[in-house]
Amino acid sequence: MCIFCSIIEGNIPSKKVYEDDETLAILDISQTTKGHTLVMPKKHYDNFLAMPSKEFGKLMEKTKDIAAKVTRNLDAKGCNILINTNEVAGQSVMHTHVHIIPRYDETDTVSFSFTENKLDLDEVLRQINQD
Ligand code: AMP
Ligand code: ZN
Repeated sequence: MCIFCSIIEGNIPSKKVYEDDETLAILDISQTTKGHTLVMPKKHYDNFLAMPSKEFGKLMEKTKDIAAKVTRNLDAKGCNILINTNEVAGQSVMHTHVHIIPRYDETDTVSFSFTENKLDLDEVLRQINQD
């Protein structure tokens, strides 16, 4: 059984932010920023691409409400919503989950950087739309 399934079953303790029949939200142990929260479906899916779209839609609706509450009540100025998909993208727990990372100022410890484009955009589009 995966670690998040064990948390959902109550076999590993967690700090619950929100729970209903289908969804569990817990504080991430790393607390990258104060209030860093993970929202997960109770049903195991390795990653969000494996979820039926309808279930993913429900998960994101709940994520939005939880993110609004966490951000508001912790006086954050914004948040990042992040889904790491597969190891190459940094996924370490193979039970899909959405990170809510509250943001307080530019000096907090989260950073993403996007590099300058060197690709032929028409060729990229051709590959994306090939089927
Ligand atoms: P990811 O790298 O996207 O798969 O994220 C997995 C996250 O789960 C990491 O941010 C970990 O800090 C977090 N995590 C791992 N074990 C636990 C746990 N027992 N309780 C809460 N969060 C956890
Ligand atoms: Zn699981």
